[in-house]
Amino acid sequence: MRLPLLAALALCLCTSAAGGEGDKLPCAPKDKPCAIRAAMAHPAKHLSWWKPALAKPFSERIGPAPAKLVEFIALDNIGNGFPNKPRISKAPADFVRDVKAAFEELPEAVKRPLTNRLAGIYFVEDLGGTGFTDMIVDDAGKPAGGFIVLDPTVLLQHTANTWATWRDGTPFKPSADDRLEVTIETPANDNRKQAIQYILLHEIGHVLSIGSNFHPNWNTPLDQVGATAQYPFYELSWRLGGSPLAYRTLFDAAFPQRKDVVYYFGPRIPADQMVETYTGLGKTNFATLYSSSHPGDDFAEAFANYVHVVMMKRPFEIRLYHFGQLALTYPACWSEPRCAPKRVVLEALLK
Ligand SMILES: [Zn+2]
Repeated sequence: MRLPLLAALALCLCTSAAGGEGDKLPCAPKDKPCAIRAAMAHPAKHLSWWKPALAKPFSERIGPAPAKLVEFIALDNIGNGFPNKPRISKAPADFVRDVKAAFEELPEAVKRPLTNRLAGIYFVEDLGGTGFTDMIVDDAGKPAGGFIVLDPTVLLQHTANTWATWRDGTPFKPSADDRLEVTIETPANDNRKQAIQYILLHEIGHVLSIGSNFHPNWNTPLDQVGATAQYPFYELSWRLGGSPLAYRTLFDAAFPQRKDVVYYFGPRIPADQMVETYTGLGKTNFATLYSSSHPGDDFAEAFANYVHVVMMKRPFEIRLYHFGQLALTYPACWSEPRCAPKRVVLEALLK
């Protein structure tokens, strides 16, 4: 879910990183500029380091994170101001089985383009989120692929519906009077494997956007993004502008809660604005509330939700309750005119 730090590619001026778990990081715990430089120059960002992994079958690209990758995430967390201190996860065998099955069961049209682009799915504890994707660049600095990281500890106790309900509740301040429930699986399939599959779909959406023209590269500083006409998916919802320079949506005037949609730095929207927020979302072309938080997550969420609902024929419904009474139901948008232009882009990608 989490996107990596936004930073320019820069040479590392820090001492070189030692690498193993427990080794010292090349940057102090609060030194953001050093961590950003070190992360961008780190081997885990470079295709040459991932070549052996990319040569393996998918089933062998899934497992505990190598120490170098944990080090990279530790630097990324410092660069982002996350307090989490990641460590290698020896995920339980049944969890690893769930991840492998969740991936295997995806449609061929989703897996095929990943053969040369997905370096693997790795497990890290105290990641600072459920899932994480970052890009790999080749020797010329061109985006060449990506890797996915999952935190098993976040997922061990969840089923698909409890995880989705937890995630989509996080932008709202807790309240006894207003709550939401999310259904992404039928009772028979409401298990951890299906939670993992939905999370993987979101992260795979990020991987497939790397080096594509769906939205600007998330590592490009905003003042260097330039003309955006080359990103047709992005252009359906987003504009870069204002002061301070930021990604804004075409719907910000009619959907004022959007600027407070935050999934990782604590809830900002009062719970009694839940219904208003989802009513506003229904007037946009965003598939989910998370889509409206960033152009990269707009694409990843649209991709995940489209594959899940349309291609895999799974349920998706959000129900909002006010004083125990059902106040609003928010369904998938793929048969609605508001999401038709985005559906066209996804159909072309997945044909
Ligand atoms: Zn994401």
